[in-house]
Amino acid sequence: MAPSAVVWDPALLGYDLGGEHPFNPVRLDLTIRLATALGVLDDVPLLVPEPATEAELYRAHAAEYLEAVKQAPMAGWDVGHGLGTPDNPVFTDMHEAASLVVGSTLLGARCLAEGKAQRAVNIAGGLHHAMRDHASGFCVYNDVSVAISWLLDHGFDRIAYIDTDVHHGDGVQAAFYGDPRVLTVSLHQHPFTLFPGTGYSGETGAEGAEGSAVNVPLPPRTKDAGWLRAFHAVVPSLLAEFRPQLLVSQCGVDSHDEDPLADLALTVDGHRTLYRTLRELADTHADGKWLAVGGGGYQLLRVVPRSWTHLIATVLDRDVPPETPLPPAWTEHVRGLAPHAELPLSMGDGGDTGFSPWGDGLDDAVDVAIRDTRRAVFPLHGLDPDDPRD
Ligand SMILES: [Zn+2]
Repeated sequence: MAPSAVVWDPALLGYDLGGEHPFNPVRLDLTIRLATALGVLDDVPLLVPEPATEAELYRAHAAEYLEAVKQAPMAGWDVGHGLGTPDNPVFTDMHEAASLVVGSTLLGARCLAEGKAQRAVNIAGGLHHAMRDHASGFCVYNDVSVAISWLLDHGFDRIAYIDTDVHHGDGVQAAFYGDPRVLTVSLHQHPFTLFPGTGYSGETGAEGAEGSAVNVPLPPRTKDAGWLRAFHAVVPSLLAEFRPQLLVSQCGVDSHDEDPLADLALTVDGHRTLYRTLRELADTHADGKWLAVGGGGYQLLRVVPRSWTHLIATVLDRDVPPETPLPPAWTEHVRGLAPHAELPLSMGDGGDTGFSPWGDGLDDAVDVAIRDTRRAVFPLHGLDPDDPRD
């Protein structure tokens, strides 16, 4: 089997929204340091990305938006397009930094298309809120939409996108809402309670692509067991029916209980279980091809580095047991940055990742979400929404 590709370059830390903005690139740096300290990256060549070209960005973005992004750092006036807001402040070299993020996900996509790797991971990617003509939710350019568009022109006709960030993957859904070649699935905190306010189960794709968008809006406080129950009630059946040639996953970890921006209640153990499930689903339903990117995640010290180290390890088949102690060198480094932070001791939270499958008679708020989603999309795929075997 072709090796797995890990995309990383410290230049990706340049996507820095500055000040006290929650989207702090230190989370990427601490992840790579942790993965390195644990030996997960031993003998793994890190693939260094180039910035995406303008022609590549046009796959997902309007020319006038690109111009606005380029001009924004010099412009002394309101540039519009969602830029210069508290969520998306203008920063120096914004166009260059955002283009590099897109280039990094494209590099992973290229490795898969050229057969150089079966799996690729880019923790700097996953800017799923960026829209065709405006920035949104900390995201300037949508690396995922550009990469999927590129893959569609390079040998792939059926791509499944699974978004497990706590926020709805609205930008990617919008980019392919009318394209039956791309199945977008997003599990997220209910839009009634969280940005961006979309991702209802009734959003199922435009005319000609009915059923190609799937949304599972979960109630606040949903824990590992409920989350995994919902995932398994919806995703495997759809993948079996859709038969993707490649799985793309956005692996935002702001679904964690300690995340300051949202209210789901997963653990690092839940994240780790999810990654192993995604790997298995890629192997079973997508010819082993899996492109994994990062996304949200704002508990910078305690959660993101551990969860995304598990992601990288899972992609590399170097799974790290949750009870593995945190390496002292890493902990010391973090203490240097945040002397008073209370740091975890191991690679897990002691979370219970067992769950009962849907259809066993339970009927809580998660089951209501599952039923709504299945009833909205399963018939469009020839599946029976009320039959737990489907
Ligand atoms: Zn998010």
